[in-house]
Order: sequence, then structure tokens, then C-alpha cells
Amino acid sequence: MKSAYKPSYGELLREAEERLREAGVPEAQLDAWYILSDTFGISRAEYLWKRDAGPERIPDIWEERIEGRCRRIPLAYLLGETEFMGLPFRVRPGVLIPRQDTETLVEWVLERERGAAKGKPSKPSQAKAEAEAGKLLDLCCGTGCIGLSLAHLGGFGTTLCDISEKAVALAGENAARLGCKAEIFRGDLFGALPRGAAFDVIVSNPPYIASQVIEELMPEVRDYEPRLALDGEEDGLAFYRRIAGEAGNYLLAGGRLYLEIGYDQGQSVPELLREAGFEQVEVKKDLAGQTRVVRGVYSHV
Ligand code: GLN
Repeated sequence: MKSAYKPSYGELLREAEERLREAGVPEAQLDAWYILSDTFGISRAEYLWKRDAGPERIPDIWEERIEGRCRRIPLAYLLGETEFMGLPFRVRPGVLIPRQDTETLVEWVLERERGAAKGKPSKPSQAKAEAEAGKLLDLCCGTGCIGLSLAHLGGFGTTLCDISEKAVALAGENAARLGCKAEIFRGDLFGALPRGAAFDVIVSNPPYIASQVIEELMPEVRDYEPRLALDGEEDGLAFYRRIAGEAGNYLLAGGRLYLEIGYDQGQSVPELLREAGFEQVEVKKDLAGQTRVVRGVYSHV
């Protein structure tokens, strides 16, 4: 028999929060709010105003999302979207979820390449902006969050590549959604690119976790995010070695390389870049004070 009981938004929120907390979800209160707000399409203001009222019907995804979050499926996979640099990015299992830490890389590129640290980037015609900003490659693009936010906010003419078919498909959807004209190729690192491709700027957030450390990551990452996007092999540096060794072939004279790195890679990765002939190698810390990005300049000699 169907019960006539109709819970209010306030009751739904409390119940969700309690279930998440019991399951040991770290940010139970916040996650319960995001699930409620997205599932029923209500803002904070609407909630405050009608918390004693309830929805007409409860869609199946309400239960699916709470149950999924209790199993530690990342919130972004359950909601299908996340924000990066203030822009909406579609996300799906099989593709790494954009991290806030990675905004450090994007902000540094905007600051150094566009002088956009203090002001907003200007928005002239796309062709003019691209000619000014230059050509940019995002290697191991995943959702496309780095390259597409740089295309959108910095006006770069952007190329994206990734080895994963799911990532390439998703990056294409995100590009269309943001109205960014980006070229997207599938393949192993630079092997994805057409012959003769060359860029002013190359950016990458490659897999950089040492294989044996992956088991120690939080369940959301360890159990649900793609290993392909995380595993940097035995010492976590495998992709940096390959990128450092090959990037010079794809950079125009004086081209710049920006790489996201792990908190303990602030010595090793700059060293790899210097060995590969990069100059003016610098490291940038994130807001938490951890080394997060390395930059180097390649002058062909
Ligand atoms: N920063 C990511 C994490 O904490 C790792 C991303 C990567 O390997 N590129 O899981």
C-alpha cells in the first residue's frame, strides 16, 4: 500500500544528512544539501522559504544519489557536473573529476601568458583573441577543464588530447557546451597530434600518483576514479619523463610548458625539465602552500 506521507524539504534534507553521516561520508551536511538542491531544483533562498513544504513527487534519482554517496561514489559523478574556474563541466565515471587545486595552474597561465592577474581578460573576437594569446595544447585533457577554461577565459586557440575515448568524448561535449572551438585528438601523449603541430604553450595534469600510493587514497578516488588518469607508475614520474623529453619537439621557439605536480614532486620534476633543456624553471605553490605547478621555457638552440 502506498503511504500518503509526504516529507517536507526540511525532512528530506535531515534524513539525507543523517544517512550520509552514518555511512561515514566526510562532508555529509554539504553533500546532502547539494543532492537536495540539484534533485529538486531548489536554491538556498527557495529552501528557506518553503522548507516546510515538500515536493509533489520524489524522483528515483533522489534515493539513487543518496545511496550512491553512502557507497562513496564521488558527488560530481552522481550530479553529472562540477564547477571549475567558475565554469560548468560535465563529468562522468571513467574521466577524472576536475580538482580545485588545478585552478592554480590555470590562474598561473592566465597571469603569465595574458597578464590577466589583476583585470578580467578582454573578450574581442575569437580569431583576434587567439592570434594574441597563441596556440595552446592541453595534454591528458580529461574533461577538458584546463584547456577549455584557458580557451574561454584567456582566448587561446586550444588543442586537447587524451588517450581515453571517454575523455575525448566528454571534452568534446564540454567544448560545445562552453561554445569553445577546440581541436580534440585521441592518442598516447604527443602521438595523438597531427604531424607538424607546434604550440606557444603546453599544459598538462598527467597521472602522477606512484602506483603503490593509490591504495591509500580516499575511497572516492581509489574505487571510482579512473586509474589511467592517476597512476604515474613506480615513482609517479613516468609521464613527466616522457613529457619533458618530447615537449621541445612541439613547442615553438621560446614556448612555455606548465605541469601540475604532486606536493612531493617540487624537486624531481623541475630537475627533469632542466635535464631536458628547459630554462627559467619555476615552481608555484597552491593556496594550501603545497608545490603544485612547474613552469619552464624551451629555447631551441
Ligand atoms: N590531484 C589528483 C588527486 O589528488 C591526482 C591527479 C593526477 O594524478 N593528475 O587524486
